[in-house]
Amino acid sequence: MEITNNYPKLQAETPHFLILPWLAPGHLIPITDIARLLAKHSAAVTIITTPVNAARIKPTIDRSNAATAGNISLVSLYFPATEVGLPEGCENIDLVPSMPLVYNFYEATKLFSQQVSRYIHERAPRVSCIIGGMGYVWAVDVARELGVPCFIFHGFGSFALYCSEILHKTKAHEVPASSAEPFIIPGLPFEFKIAGKELPMHFHQSKENKEVGEEMRSYELAVDGILVNSFEHLEPGYADLLQKLSGKKVFTIGPVSVCNTKMLDMEERGNKPTVGTHRCIQWLDSKKPNSVVYVSFGSTGSFAPKQFKELGLGLLASQWSFVWVIKDIEKLPEETLIWLRENFEDKNSSRSLLIKGWAPQIAILSHPAVGGFLTHCGWNSTLESVAAGVPVVAWPLYSEQFLNVKLIVDVLKIGVSVGAREAMAFRGDKEDGISVRKEDVVKAIEKLMNGEEERKRVAQLKEKAEMALEKGGSSFLNLESLIQFVAP
Ligand code: UDP
Repeated sequence: MEITNNYPKLQAETPHFLILPWLAPGHLIPITDIARLLAKHSAAVTIITTPVNAARIKPTIDRSNAATAGNISLVSLYFPATEVGLPEGCENIDLVPSMPLVYNFYEATKLFSQQVSRYIHERAPRVSCIIGGMGYVWAVDVARELGVPCFIFHGFGSFALYCSEILHKTKAHEVPASSAEPFIIPGLPFEFKIAGKELPMHFHQSKENKEVGEEMRSYELAVDGILVNSFEHLEPGYADLLQKLSGKKVFTIGPVSVCNTKMLDMEERGNKPTVGTHRCIQWLDSKKPNSVVYVSFGSTGSFAPKQFKELGLGLLASQWSFVWVIKDIEKLPEETLIWLRENFEDKNSSRSLLIKGWAPQIAILSHPAVGGFLTHCGWNSTLESVAAGVPVVAWPLYSEQFLNVKLIVDVLKIGVSVGAREAMAFRGDKEDGISVRKEDVVKAIEKLMNGEEERKRVAQLKEKAEMALEKGGSSFLNLESLIQFVAP
């Protein structure tokens, strides 16, 4: 099946980016913004994805096309989920039911390459560049066949990518593999100790991880360049360091979320919100400036019942109002749901707004009542907090988030750590224990919400974030250079 908007109107000289977004919200969302920015810079873009994912971003693409002469084409191709034992329609990592099936999902994304190749052979589009998502290890083969450059989009920041590159090169992480014993990441301008347990999963050495990790590394080594959703002032010097160490061209072109200036774009970003944005805004309007903590752990972050309850108790014990976004609520036992209803929705509804599902995150973050973001430090959430001028309470869960915390808390000093010390299994069955206590939550929230320094620093970065994408700003110029680089 294929749904498509009008194919981009290609003049011979118009650069045409073929984008293959990795099938996860944290990738699809920023890549859609990147497509919009490229279209604004008069490039043509084709996004190839699957029906479920195309449906999520189509409204945004349609609005963008109405404003930029239809420069983005959205192509939706069949995704072979059932062929590898996944439920029908399981086309995004946030729909994968359990951790072991993540490997099946990865297999399906490899089979998906056949659909993409067939499409390209049938249509023979004139392409100037491929932008490949992090897990599409075959994207570089598509680029080679077309004879065009391939850029990878990991969705990570320059600092995290640089740390990862150091680890790949030095193998420093192999000494204490997956242990709680911290080791130093060598070659950084300051001492950064991290434990094996805090490292991104692809550095861990189980059989399946090892194979996937090796395939991804080969892909990284084969590409021509790296696109980074970040901006110079946020991670000064790290894009250059990454470029030198990896030997790849690096373009920092963010923070891309700032292209969402209209309320509809903020609301319908990557998914339909479970709660009306109007209701959230009305609730926030009734609060004083900087008096609300926004609590959310990205598109997939959730806890087992004990930790979930401990977090809730911490929120209640703090002095502040909060918006709490809860994912995978159906996995919580009845008893926890009753506790949630009684303690939040019945007794504390004026202090707490629960969103069970998808929140209009950037609309909430940009409200003046929101004074802090308790976040898992996913890179998009981090950037969105910076772009909204909101300091963070850092509670990393998995992926590269422990690397991001170092940048947020110790380098930029725009956040306070809650003290999480161990990565959780991504979409796995979570151990029903408590690693972050209620007291840790209260302490970190109080410190951040009562402090001035983090707020001042993040307000300065907010200004720089806006400037980066304005005409003449660093990311604006990098987008232009990228387009020049691939121009026919
Ligand atoms: N997001 C959202 N509503 C939600 C949860 C997430 O809009 O309820 C968006 C959020 O704004 C961000 C992305 O989903 O753009 C999550 O990306 P991030 O890198 O922060 O975390 P991930 O989901 O990749 O772990």
